[in-house]
Amino acid sequence: MAVYPVVPLRGLIVFPHTTITIDVGRKKSLAAFTAAMQRDGQALFCAQKELSLPEPTAGDIRTCGTVCRILQRIDLPNKNVRLLVQGLYRVKIKNFLPNEEFLEAEADRIEITNDDTVMTEALFRKARELLATFSVNTNGKINKDVLAQLAEKNDPNEFIDLLSHLVVYHDSKKQEILEIGDTEARLTELCNCLANEIEIAKVDKKIASDVKESIDKGQKEFYLKEQMKAISQELGSGEDEIVEIENKIKAAKMPKEVEEKALKELGRLAKMPAASPDASVSRSYIEWLTDLEWNEETVDNKDLKRAREILDEDHFGLEKIKERILEYLAVIQLTGKIKGPILCFVGPPGVGKTSIVRSIARALNRKYVRMSLGGVSDEAEIRGHRKTYVGSMPGKIIYLMKQAHCINPVMLFDEIDKMSRDYKGDPSSAMLEVLDPEQNNSFVDHYLEVPFDLSKTLFVATANKLDSIPAPLLDRMEVIELSGYTEEEKLSIAKDFLIKKEEEQNGLPVGSLNITDNGIRKIIESYTRESGVRTLERELAKVCRKKALALVEGKDINEKITEKNVSDYLGVEIYKNDVIDTKDEVGTATGLAWTAVGGVSLSVDVTLFDGKGEILLTGMMGDVMKESARTAISLVKSLSKDYGINGEVFAKTDIHVHIPEGAIPKDGPSAGITMATAIMSAFTGRAVSKKVAMTGEVTLRGKVLPIGGLKEKTLAAFRVGIKKVIIPKDNEKDLQEIPKEVRDNMTFVLAEDIKTVFDNSLI
Ligand code: ADP
Repeated sequence: MAVYPVVPLRGLIVFPHTTITIDVGRKKSLAAFTAAMQRDGQALFCAQKELSLPEPTAGDIRTCGTVCRILQRIDLPNKNVRLLVQGLYRVKIKNFLPNEEFLEAEADRIEITNDDTVMTEALFRKARELLATFSVNTNGKINKDVLAQLAEKNDPNEFIDLLSHLVVYHDSKKQEILEIGDTEARLTELCNCLANEIEIAKVDKKIASDVKESIDKGQKEFYLKEQMKAISQELGSGEDEIVEIENKIKAAKMPKEVEEKALKELGRLAKMPAASPDASVSRSYIEWLTDLEWNEETVDNKDLKRAREILDEDHFGLEKIKERILEYLAVIQLTGKIKGPILCFVGPPGVGKTSIVRSIARALNRKYVRMSLGGVSDEAEIRGHRKTYVGSMPGKIIYLMKQAHCINPVMLFDEIDKMSRDYKGDPSSAMLEVLDPEQNNSFVDHYLEVPFDLSKTLFVATANKLDSIPAPLLDRMEVIELSGYTEEEKLSIAKDFLIKKEEEQNGLPVGSLNITDNGIRKIIESYTRESGVRTLERELAKVCRKKALALVEGKDINEKITEKNVSDYLGVEIYKNDVIDTKDEVGTATGLAWTAVGGVSLSVDVTLFDGKGEILLTGMMGDVMKESARTAISLVKSLSKDYGINGEVFAKTDIHVHIPEGAIPKDGPSAGITMATAIMSAFTGRAVSKKVAMTGEVTLRGKVLPIGGLKEKTLAAFRVGIKKVIIPKDNEKDLQEIPKEVRDNMTFVLAEDIKTVFDNSLI
């Protein structure tokens, strides 16, 4: 038994074989330390039971502690002392000695038992094993030097003391291990603690890695987001843009299916680098979807009286069309739908086909859009290219629907007869779908890929000629023919519409163009040769511009324009009415033809040469016309006897048939009787009257067959001053279509047989 100054420790347990630093500050502790130093430099370090006690007394201290040698002291600034102590052995306090200055106790050394048994060895090895596992799992918690030191320890108790100091977490456990005198029991306790610590270390490791993972993920996302922000700032698009587009999609009130498609595309766009070509394809696709109106409808004008007024305001005459349009509007009003055939206005240029459609839109209070089909030969122009094509776009239909900003505009297909087809596909098949009321409520453009409702759109088409419109298309349409105007009609149109329009467009006060009726007539006669009024309008515009210049220059603009001074404004006259003046000729007959520009008069010239009976046909004749020329020659041959022609002459004569203005292609059978007349005239030497014009197909037997476009042809004849027209008998019914002023001033010869034609034309 020995006596030791006792230093109570707070939260610290010193084991033998360990060296630690201890800060001492309490008065009694310092006194104990001083006493120890005065004795042999050893003191007993015991843990106090309650950490919070500032001045523990004998009863507050654990009776088992470690006697330590004080190796070093360092004075700390706050009068505390830091001691470096080395644990020597364990003791058990027997009793405290009375001491006012510090705690002092008598204690017995704790003797070790069982330190050399097989069990001890087994437990010792187990403890080493556990240590190895522990150090792996804690990854550096015990430093390498200490591990090496531990590995060298052969005394299990030294090992236990050192390791307990390092790994046992709870002070109470440490105290327990310190107090036990039995090596086996100490080792068992240590092993338990180690196993426990290993489990905790494992869990700890997992928690650490989970935490790290979540931190890593968060960091990664944060990093990528920052990077995206930086990129989008550089490129001007990104998150903000996506949100903006999304809002636009939501606001566009698209059908569900379309909205889904748009959002899907947006999802793709969000994942693409903003500046990539794919992104711009995606972006413009979504833009198309959002820019289109999917539901918006304008409200139709239901007042038919007002509609009629508007139609009358814009156009002179065209009664049939105006009536038909009002019927159409009435049906739309009653059924709320546009069913039935698409209207197609057919007629020569300048007769108001296009402008009447614009007027329909105005009368209906609908938007107006126009597509010219002239020269369209590719289906994609109508239906668009697939998105995968570089630079692809929707077709013209969707383009116009976007332009219209509503789903019920009036859409004009201009020049539907000028559409052609080539290797890229047939546009008329796409048009068929557009115009089919059964299908067009879900028209699919190749680019958009989603159905678009065209069923509320009012389609109207125009064409110059019927024969070049593909039959299936024609089948879907209701054809309304517009024919050319007579001079009087043109005069009215000019006076009531064109002059006003041109005055306005050229900045002249309305009503200021002082032009007489005869002045206008002169323009019509000498400066235009057309069925419609397009050139007339252009010439009137020319006059207005001259007046506008005069007005700006401060000159008098009131000068009357008459037939005498029109040439001051328009230059020398272009057409002269010279047909009547010319002499009757042998081998030349005047025919009437119906071309895309309306009715025209044309002459057929025939010249005979000595030769071998060959036939020469010139003047850009089409195949049908060539055939009818040969038919005419055969007919004349067969009639040679009746007209006193020597039959042998044909074998020795070459025949040249020419139709002047060779640059203009001509075709059709309706020049048959004209050619026959010219040939007969050439062979008989009888002249053909210049006062007569004719039109009609002829058969080999000399029968005269009916032709089309009689009104146009008659008007053309009237324009050039012809007074007598020979027409097929079967066309008699068409005479009523011819304006009265023309009918009253002309004679019509109805021919059933070619002889009637010859009788009325050959002199
Ligand atoms: P189209 O389409 O038949 O070739 P447009 O519609 O372009 O002819 O007509 C040419 C011009 O003639 C337009 O300015 C139009 O207003 C005018 N016009 C044609 N017919 C009439 C008419 N009956 N009344 C008033 N103006 C007309």
